[in-house]
Amino acid sequence: MSLIVQKYGGTSVGNTERIRNVAARVARYRAQGDQIVVVVSAMSGVTDNLIKLAKEIMPLPNEREMDVLLATGEQTTIALTAMALHALDIKAVSLTGAQAGIRTDGMHTKAKIQNITPKRIHQYLDRGNVVIVAGFQGVTPDGHITTLGRGGSDLTAIALAAALKADLCQIYTDVDGVYTADPRIVPSARKLAEISYDEMLELASLGAKVMQSRSVEFAKKFGVVFEVRSSLNDNPGTIVKEETKNMEDVVIRGVSLDKNQAKVTLVGVPDKPGIAAKIFKTLGDAAINVDMIVQNISHGAGAPATDLSFTVDKPELLKAQKVIGGLKTEIGFGEIISTDKIGKLSIVGVGMKSHSGVAGRMFETLAKEGINIEMISTSEIKISVVIDLAKGEQAMKAVHAAFLGC
Ligand code: ADP
Ligand code: ASP
Ligand code: MG
Repeated sequence: MSLIVQKYGGTSVGNTERIRNVAARVARYRAQGDQIVVVVSAMSGVTDNLIKLAKEIMPLPNEREMDVLLATGEQTTIALTAMALHALDIKAVSLTGAQAGIRTDGMHTKAKIQNITPKRIHQYLDRGNVVIVAGFQGVTPDGHITTLGRGGSDLTAIALAAALKADLCQIYTDVDGVYTADPRIVPSARKLAEISYDEMLELASLGAKVMQSRSVEFAKKFGVVFEVRSSLNDNPGTIVKEETKNMEDVVIRGVSLDKNQAKVTLVGVPDKPGIAAKIFKTLGDAAINVDMIVQNISHGAGAPATDLSFTVDKPELLKAQKVIGGLKTEIGFGEIISTDKIGKLSIVGVGMKSHSGVAGRMFETLAKEGINIEMISTSEIKISVVIDLAKGEQAMKAVHAAFLGC
């Protein structure tokens, strides 16, 4: 008998027919005698709609209340999924994150899991139930409801697989697996049979929303091997696991485009020690994730000044502007210019460690398309560029064709 954790994303539970489809799949596994823990997301569009409602009330809603609101999406799905299993005469019980023993810190809207006490899950499994757990949510030691950041049901599933020492962890979604690029943007993208944690982590952090990046980080840390596959068919998916020797033979595993970033430029920042520290410490204290940073060389007569640009997640732009605005008098910079019309295009592959000339080839491909590069950042296994959002998809297709041959 195996213990299997299966996670179903928003589209896979998008209506009652899809929920019945999930129940039918769970029933097939159950018939083999396996114990099943099902993690579900909110039905597709529900979380976005809840966010929209909150923003109609005020642009920057209280984050504790946001979590109380957002957690309702997954709570709806667990109950409906349990009912769909009951309709098939299968014993099933739904649990919220708190009931499942998922404890988090108090960083509302992007809480970190501190520990999981799956006692109740084990009790229900032992009594022959399928246990359905609400993804994306947990509870602080003080009893406040939290959520784990967008796409956080992936993290719930991976963390539960680790805590339960599951034999199998399956992430069911609306595509057949992880592709060389988002198949909805690049029709010639190919499904990968396997990918390393590091490559998946980079692709996920760089905009491939097929997996939440924090969930991949967690899987790597705890060695949770998982499969990304479709809830709509029985095709084998993509196995995500520790890097193996032969993986380096492939130079570029995938291409991603992040349309969810915004760029902030501070013009005329005094060029002296401690200023950058002040700016980024303040952003860090406000829990704003900064990604790329570019500082120009000093310019202007008199006291040296520079322009400083950085990128943040689009939903955090307003908060970042507010936080930085509060430093204007203290630091004495000129003005803040922001734009959310940027795209971050990245290529990822562990093979980059042992192959040269990759950056040149990427930049040349963009030049041929007449696309200007605004920012660049690299690591051992990725190269990212910030470009005009309007040209993002064109750039992605061209770079995919150049490296992945279609
Ligand atoms: P779920 O609701 O199941 O969590 P998501 O919408 O979060 O699903 O993620 C699945 C989507 O990720 C796909 O529909 C696809 O458009 C997108 N995607 C982006 N990059 C990739 C990629 N490299 N491989 C597969 N899917 C990708
Ligand atoms: N419902 C949440 C979201 O849309 C979590 C998830 O689907 O994984 O971000
Ligand atoms: Mg998702």
